Amino acid sequence: MSKETLGFQAEVKQLLQLMIHSLYSNKEIFLRELVSNASDACDKLRFEAVNNDGLFGNDPELKIHVDFDEQAKTITVSDSGIGMSRDEVIKNIGTIARSGTKEFFSQLSGDKQKDAHLIGQFGVGFYSAFIIADKVTLTTRRAGEESATQWESAGDGEFTLETVEKPTRGTTIVLHLKDGEEEFLNDYRLRSIIRKYSDHITLPILMPAQAGYNDDGSIKPAEGFETVNQANALWTRSKSDITPEQYTEFYKHVAHDYEDPLAWSHAKVEGRQEYTELLYVPKRAPFDLYDRERRHGVKLYVRRVFILEDSEKLLPQYLRFVRGVIDSANLPLNVSREILQHSKDIEQIKSGCVKKVLGLLESMANSDEAEEQAKYTTFWGEFGKVLKEGVGEDFANKERIAALCRFASTHNESAEQTVSLKDYLGRMKEGQDQIYFITADSYAAAKNSPHLEVFRKKGIEVLLLSDRVDEWAFSGLTEFEGKKLQSVAKGELNLEQFTDEAEKQEQEAAATELKDIIEQMKTVLGDSVKDIRVTHRLTDSPACLVVENQDMSANLERLLKSAGQDVKASKPILEVNPTHPLVGKLKAEAASDKFGDWTHLIFDQALLAEGGQLEDPASFVKRLNGLMLAM
Ligand code: ADP
Repeated sequence: MSKETLGFQAEVKQLLQLMIHSLYSNKEIFLRELVSNASDACDKLRFEAVNNDGLFGNDPELKIHVDFDEQAKTITVSDSGIGMSRDEVIKNIGTIARSGTKEFFSQLSGDKQKDAHLIGQFGVGFYSAFIIADKVTLTTRRAGEESATQWESAGDGEFTLETVEKPTRGTTIVLHLKDGEEEFLNDYRLRSIIRKYSDHITLPILMPAQAGYNDDGSIKPAEGFETVNQANALWTRSKSDITPEQYTEFYKHVAHDYEDPLAWSHAKVEGRQEYTELLYVPKRAPFDLYDRERRHGVKLYVRRVFILEDSEKLLPQYLRFVRGVIDSANLPLNVSREILQHSKDIEQIKSGCVKKVLGLLESMANSDEAEEQAKYTTFWGEFGKVLKEGVGEDFANKERIAALCRFASTHNESAEQTVSLKDYLGRMKEGQDQIYFITADSYAAAKNSPHLEVFRKKGIEVLLLSDRVDEWAFSGLTEFEGKKLQSVAKGELNLEQFTDEAEKQEQEAAATELKDIIEQMKTVLGDSVKDIRVTHRLTDSPACLVVENQDMSANLERLLKSAGQDVKASKPILEVNPTHPLVGKLKAEAASDKFGDWTHLIFDQALLAEGGQLEDPASFVKRLNGLMLAM
């Protein structure tokens, strides 16, 4: 095929611009990214070759070469990995076929620092070559194929493709350096960058040998290549031999992250399943955290051979932010996705790793050190909503996960989620035997809900839940440390223990007094309500709606409807506040023809106050106007 010129996808152009401008202060990472890709390509070949040794041809060695040419001003990175077919080159280099990409780019602000962070979330990868190069030539031959493809671009919006000869499989990338980037044409500099960022790469990274002395004192001539990195799997080394910097660089490679990790757990597990896990919690949520087709997860190795990367089978959904490796000593090398699906061995490894991750989070959350606590706050801000899914999803660990959750609460003024269930238990009033919470679709709606009035008056704390996941997650948690969780918008108000004799008598008297009015209201509202009753939940509002304990809450109903589900709402119970002047007014109007309008208005405003939607807003407005004019 002759030479062909193609245009970059618009997003790639934007990414290139952004990368060149926002990462210039950390140029050297280009080498980390290219070496990381080369290492992934070798892992992929090893995996595909498990069922097809022919792929290795007559070259069984997997390695990465880094070289430079001072005269030509080029740096070359080549690997003996899987390589790419022509179609793969077009798909992988020149387009960004990731779901969520458009949304990602729409977030870019033009502020260099902010955008540099965003780009970290997105992953920099191959395109980082253009930070230092004004032309990049990539030549690649897929293992098992005859012809090779050459891709070339100046990073300005176009690239060319050409079919070429390449004697060996794998990928060779030549960077033609920009003027001013000559500092990288230096053996010492390149070696230090490799040791700094890529020491943990399991394969040898070779550079032209330097003349020197052998261990026995004999002269070592400058010929051939020598290995620059340690080239052993980091996770197999003992913890005491690994520096925090090495853990960090390894994280950036496995997680494709630009930033440091927040925390990690590294352990060798013995027993029926023998495996090593090195799991990391990132500092920042990736842009595709909520994307079903998100790409990265935990990598599975079997005896140091990469098998696959998968987030779903190795860890549950609610821990999908975790990155790292699991290396099993027992699984067969030819394990496939299908086998993983039903493997008891994997189930055991998975449950062991869940416990490790929860333990890691607990060690931050429960630490006495301010630094660890601050880390947990960061974690909660980034991943709290995802972790909460675990309360609804992971039956075996739900209480442990619930203990890690943080909430907004009536105890605090701010919307920040800082209160744990343990904090709540420690502050419960004497005689209080339930944990009270409210769910709403925003913090403001929760905080200002009429249902909280009596709790405020009596000084009882209520947790304010307003994330979308809360309603579902916490409907599955009925108890925490033996105390029942109770929604304040459900069921009868059970605060007898906080009500004195005089109050009780007053309440009974009020109920008797309103009996007839309530019957009259029931005739007006008919089928719209399940019941109408006098309440003592309210101090400032005239009325509110509640549902029975077992019924679907109004908030959940709205969430499901907004998600397009056709749910049958349970009818609410209208509760009226006998001490409110408007209810007094209603009583006074019992005999007038305005009674119906007053009743409807009270019902409608109770619905509005909790964020509900009126079935017939026009009639509401008409009634309200009528009553305003009559005043
Ligand atoms: P990422 O590594 O995060 O996927 P990159 O932009 O670095 O993103 O690379 C895009 C894709 O190009 C990779 O996922 C891989 O499929 C392919 N690729 C990059 N470098 C190589 C290489 N050296 N050998 C084979 N494939 C490669």
